[in-house]
Amino acid sequence: RCSPWLQLGSDAPCSGTGLLSLGCADSCYGVGLIFVQRNEQQSQQQNPRRRFGKRQGKELNSINYCTIYSCGRDCCSITVGTQYGVTEGISDFEVCYCVFYSICVHLLLSLPPTHPLIPLLLQLSHKASKSSPSQVRRLVSQVDGSRLWETHLRPILIERLPGTLGSQAVRQHISSTLSSLSAGWTVELDSFLSPTPRGQVTFSNIIATLDPGAPRRLLLTCHYDSKVLPPDPRVPERVFLGASDSAVPCAMILELASALDAQLKALNQQASAVTLQLVFFDGEESFEEWTATDSLYGSRHLAERMAHTPHPLGSTHTNLLQAVDLFVLLDLLGGPDPLIVNHFDNTARWFDRLIAAEKRLHRQGLLTSHPSEQTYFRKDVYLGPVQDDHIPFLNKGVPVLHVIATPFPPFWHTLDDTEENMHRPTVENLTKILAVFLAEYLGF
Ligand SMILES: [Zn+2]
Repeated sequence: RCSPWLQLGSDAPCSGTGLLSLGCADSCYGVGLIFVQRNEQQSQQQNPRRRFGKRQGKELNSINYCTIYSCGRDCCSITVGTQYGVTEGISDFEVCYCVFYSICVHLLLSLPPTHPLIPLLLQLSHKASKSSPSQVRRLVSQVDGSRLWETHLRPILIERLPGTLGSQAVRQHISSTLSSLSAGWTVELDSFLSPTPRGQVTFSNIIATLDPGAPRRLLLTCHYDSKVLPPDPRVPERVFLGASDSAVPCAMILELASALDAQLKALNQQASAVTLQLVFFDGEESFEEWTATDSLYGSRHLAERMAHTPHPLGSTHTNLLQAVDLFVLLDLLGGPDPLIVNHFDNTARWFDRLIAAEKRLHRQGLLTSHPSEQTYFRKDVYLGPVQDDHIPFLNKGVPVLHVIATPFPPFWHTLDDTEENMHRPTVENLTKILAVFLAEYLGF
């Protein structure tokens, strides 16, 4: 349990000079109300009670922060309040605001740490860091385009229908790549048998987790199976390779893990509150017409399994699905000129980080074949929802960020979804943008 403490007239744990803050000193949850002072003269007014009474504005700048924070392993904060530099006194609104938050403080501090609201609060309050231009340059320099292409992508460009040798070979490639890294991935297979229009098929999701014991996790996902398509009647040996669907996204994730290996290793050693989990789904594609039962085999299975896995271990209140901060899904990437739009309001702030990363990299001259600062990620267009591996998670309340090209590329679900039709600079640019996104989300 948290041990609440009251701090008067000294620096609060969050930014700003706190006159009054209330929270916990231990490594769990806390809430603070922080009144920021404007100058020396004002700081002589030490009585927080008087602050509430004075409205003239000469005494107190304004309430600049009402902050919910937690310390230690679960370090995060929600910051609300008025802008810095407001010169008026406390308004009635601000007083109400702080009274309201005071009530919240007491309610939150009375919650047991296992309460199901806690993961939700932490998830909502997660704050990304902002990398400096030199950090951005360093991160981007770690992304290796030829390793992405030659080492990670090429072995995936084979037919990989669920339950076949091709699928097994790709699974082996992905698992061994992750296991060979120094970050210390725990790689496991989630294998299961499911009825399909083609009879019983064995599917295997690949799950790699940096710190399985961490309270929360960011999921980065794609599917590795390829679709059953009839071969070209003129060239029967030509099969569907699904380069953009989703060999390239798989290779991008492998490259992100390789490029950020040193930082991910450090993150793992720090026992950070939020860890990274990579999921490579099997059986995203339907065998025949797409239906609710003939599609999304792997994601349906994993969402169900996670919903029934207690987390933290032994918890009777919360499960692994509630530990998912954000579910990032990559799909149909690899072709030239992708348009990637925002699909969900509740994760729009994370989509904004992708837009911001693209703009920053462009301005720093770190992207190639990238005509304008907002080429890929656009918020001003919406092209309708897309059925994909996020659906079983979305239906269970997991926040989703769907990174998919819409409209779909012209070669979608045709034998032309090949390496030749991929655009290497675009793939490298997107990987660099995602490297910045991951670094900022995970705080390194
Ligand atoms: Zn597909």
